[in-house]
Amino acid sequence: MFFMRVGIDFDDVLVDTNPSLLGFHNEQFGTAHWMEDVQSFDLSRLWGCTPDEAHERLEAWYYSSHHANLVPVFGAQEAVMHLANFCELHIITARHAHLAEVTSALVGRHFPDVFAGVHFVGYNGRGHGSKARACQELGVTILLEDAPHHAHAVAAVGIPVLLFDAPWNGDVAGDNIIRVHTWAEAVDHITRL
Ligand SMILES: [Mg+2]
Repeated sequence: MFFMRVGIDFDDVLVDTNPSLLGFHNEQFGTAHWMEDVQSFDLSRLWGCTPDEAHERLEAWYYSSHHANLVPVFGAQEAVMHLANFCELHIITARHAHLAEVTSALVGRHFPDVFAGVHFVGYNGRGHGSKARACQELGVTILLEDAPHHAHAVAAVGIPVLLFDAPWNGDVAGDNIIRVHTWAEAVDHITRL
């Protein structure tokens, strides 16, 4: 087995972002949403606001106690500790670099000493940074991801994507996209590469 480089998304792959966002939004904006209501990656649809307003609310969440209390996705901690034995692991997040501090605090608390790097591709609320470019520059063998647009873009440049099943990516399929439902499934797949 060779020492491969693996890219891992942060939100909703390593930490349970959507439940936290939901709790934040219900508390701050008086909504009563459940996870079953989250069907799209575009939160402005769920929140009934403009994309700019959704971006502002997201920014507020990053600095809230809800964000500080984000918890790891089930099985993620054990999985990355195991993978780190034979992979070089990199977090590749669409978060903007100005969130490096609040993000690194969570990485340090929940995933200490397992990641070789944290890369901020730079989502700015209006457009998406290119995870495909980041994956190519880093030379990752595979990306673990849940977002439809990033999965498609990375798969399109020939890098396989393990797509973590979520209500917002149910219709995502294609060459180089392998759907997984658990971290155990993801580890199993990577181990066989
Ligand atoms: Mg994500």
